[in-house]
Amino acid sequence: MKKDNIFVKKSLGQNFITDVSFLRKLSLLIDTNKKTSIIEIGPGKGALTKQLIKKDYNEISVIEKDDQLICNLQKLSEGIQHFNILHKDALTIDYNEFLKKNSIIVGNLPFNISSILLMKWIFLNEWPPLYKKMYLMFQKEVGERIIASHGSKKYGRLSIITQSRCEIKKLLIAKSDIFVPRPKVDGIVLEFTPHKKYLDLNINKLEMIVRKAFSQRRKKIKTSLAEHADLLEFLSINSNLRPEDLSVQQYCKLTELMN
Ligand code: SAM
Repeated sequence: MKKDNIFVKKSLGQNFITDVSFLRKLSLLIDTNKKTSIIEIGPGKGALTKQLIKKDYNEISVIEKDDQLICNLQKLSEGIQHFNILHKDALTIDYNEFLKKNSIIVGNLPFNISSILLMKWIFLNEWPPLYKKMYLMFQKEVGERIIASHGSKKYGRLSIITQSRCEIKKLLIAKSDIFVPRPKVDGIVLEFTPHKKYLDLNINKLEMIVRKAFSQRRKKIKTSLAEHADLLEFLSINSNLRPEDLSVQQYCKLTELMN
């Protein structure tokens, strides 16, 4: 238990940021204007929230699952207009319904569910989505997998699916000592901007083909994607390549040509 009577719940991935200069730096990198609806996932004790409420926005909604943190957030929201506290599990929200125009999603995400949450915001039914940007903190190793390029060992399903819908920029490295309790690994903040390169792409089909290709990572695609040999040939993709050698564009083109 900490001096503020808050029990740290490991099960909720609670690592609170205590370094105010890091939070200020991050907040400065977050692009908002007077029309922005900020959605913060896992505000915790409100460390980042306190920076966000200094920015321009139309509305801020914070989504926190832990009961013991709600009271603090209510105090923080006193006197602030358009500040909504949602005492909810962010995993159970239907973001197809929930998101509004001009929203941005921000969060020092609980490391244990960060990829699941990211996939929810990438697999939305409508594309481009209603959010303009996402600013999200991941475990560094997960972040590196998200931004990995083809040819790299870290490149895989997470990289391809995410990059098929967003441009991703590395914003900040968060050393583990800025968190309390200190996690075993560093974090990384990424900025996601939805792009419109593959508007006709069926992302579920893309996922299926990527799963198939990477189910046998060491094998050449002529084995794992044998049933699509004609399409590989049509796209002049060398079937002696391994799954990590194909670019996001090649996976997307392959998917677009599938029935
Ligand atoms: N934003 C705060 C900070 O930077 O200090 C806290 C970040 S901490 C890594 C993750 C936060 O997400 C915790 O407050 C935790 O209770 C909350 N959380 C964990 N799982 C959640 C879920 N499924 N839905 C909503 N909040 C969740």
